[in-house]
Amino acid sequence: MLSSNSREPREYQSRRLDALARPPEVGHELFVGLSALRDTWSSRHHSRDFAYAHARYLRSRVLALGLIFALLSPLWIVVDSLVLPTELLRYTLLGRVGLLLGLAGVLGMAFIHHERIQRIRLCAGMLLALPAGFYLFVLVMLPAEQVRGLVGYGFIPFLLVAALSVFPFTLLESLVAGLAMLGLLAYSQLIDGSWLTGQGVESLWLLSSLLIVALAANHFQLSLLLRLYRQATHDPLTGLYNRGALEVHLEKVQGWQREIAGQDSLGSVPCSLLMVDLDHFKRINDSYGHSVGDSVLCQFAELLVTLTRRHDCVARYGGEEFVVILVGSGPARALEIAERIRFAVEQTDFINHDDEPIPVTASIGVTQLEQDEPASEALKRADEALYRAKREGRNQVAMALEPDSD
Ligand code: GH3
Ligand code: MG
Ligand code: MG
Repeated sequence: MLSSNSREPREYQSRRLDALARPPEVGHELFVGLSALRDTWSSRHHSRDFAYAHARYLRSRVLALGLIFALLSPLWIVVDSLVLPTELLRYTLLGRVGLLLGLAGVLGMAFIHHERIQRIRLCAGMLLALPAGFYLFVLVMLPAEQVRGLVGYGFIPFLLVAALSVFPFTLLESLVAGLAMLGLLAYSQLIDGSWLTGQGVESLWLLSSLLIVALAANHFQLSLLLRLYRQATHDPLTGLYNRGALEVHLEKVQGWQREIAGQDSLGSVPCSLLMVDLDHFKRINDSYGHSVGDSVLCQFAELLVTLTRRHDCVARYGGEEFVVILVGSGPARALEIAERIRFAVEQTDFINHDDEPIPVTASIGVTQLEQDEPASEALKRADEALYRAKREGRNQVAMALEPDSD
């Protein structure tokens, strides 16, 4: 049931009713899926933060599948010993020892390097390349007539293409790996004589179909991960980082400050925090309605982003409260930027749905981010400074008392 709010202007109420009366759009999902192709084709457009989250996810898959491969490989020796003549066993055994050592290396590397994105990607690639390499080794070492007698080996390219769908690989990565597996299958057919026979063509067709299914699985897996990541770290209204992501980022900035301070020649890097709150925002909601309030928040978020540098982090901390981390800015520079923001808000024509200007002002609390303090302390100081700015009349900037002078 719709509840009517007597404080909302008539026009706003009818706007809201219009929006609610609009039927849901049909057939949107397919286009959303297609536009997501840009994000799943390669990792070029992924943020560094997402690359970390992605690598952690990839790592858990590498560890699980690596263990499965490492257990399956020695078990297969039993099958080999039952079906292969003794003189060939030493080749497959040698290959399997190499494969096991390689898998142990991949597992060890994935276990140790949980923070290194490129290493984890390398591990995932190696996990697929090792069994493929083992198969190639057997194909090269064994005489052609013996290759025909192998049991279960022709299955390896199929197993590896199926395994592609377990990983949230980008489409480009999976395509390269899948084409390599098709090449491997073609090479095995040239050796065992099934190339261009009915059975050979059927196998190639099957592997290609499996690759297409794996690519679809990669696409949906990766786009789901991206969507979950965005939902977990970004504010849906303004598109800025949310509070949780801000807190994680604050700790990263402090870690970076410590790292730089550890390298004597560079000295320490000052960083500052701004806590920005819109003044009397409730009045905007009350006078123009919640949706105009939302639009003002979005316009304000855009303004904050344009007034800060690319590596400064802008986040929506809560309702109409925003936090900016100024990387590399000391107190004087931070005050200057805060004043520039305050002035820009005062001068900017925020507009309602009828393009009429709405006067908006902001109060700002400024503090230094110390590298060794809990990030919550710095946020608390910025908040206290912000409330001093509010108490002293709003539309102003206040500097926090620094930790040592507390
Ligand atoms: P002050 O100058 O002391 O900050 O006054 P204020 O009115 O800005 O602050 P107060 O905390 O009293 O009210 C904040 C208002 O912000 C109340 C809440 O309804 C509104 N608000 C919070 N989140 C949103 C949102 O996402 N959209 C809209 N439109 N309003 C929001
Ligand atoms: Mg406010
Ligand atoms: Mg507030």
